[in-house]
Amino acid sequence: MSDICEVCGLPKELCVCEELVREQQKITIKLDRRRYGKMMTLIEGLNPNEVDLHSLVSKLKSACACGGTVKDGIIELQGDHRVKAKEILEKMGFRVESLE
Ligand SMILES: [Zn+2]
Repeated sequence: MSDICEVCGLPKELCVCEELVREQQKITIKLDRRRYGKMMTLIEGLNPNEVDLHSLVSKLKSACACGGTVKDGIIELQGDHRVKAKEILEKMGFRVESLE
């Protein structure tokens, strides 16, 4: 019983709700220069109600081997990981709208 998607009612192996949600995000990745030359990669535009940002940030942190956090619905990674983050997100089925 637990293998039925609550959104579309299909068995989980047939359900594409999660993929659709990922494609629908309007993601912007940008670099933020902070004090003392510190750089942060910001990933904006994810809907926190649709995407588990905390599990996403931990994936990105381990893939980029960096620190990071979620703040006001924005994922922050320490350092410039724009290209790598885009690659990972796209591999997961997200569509990245812009890379600044
Ligand atoms: Zn579904």
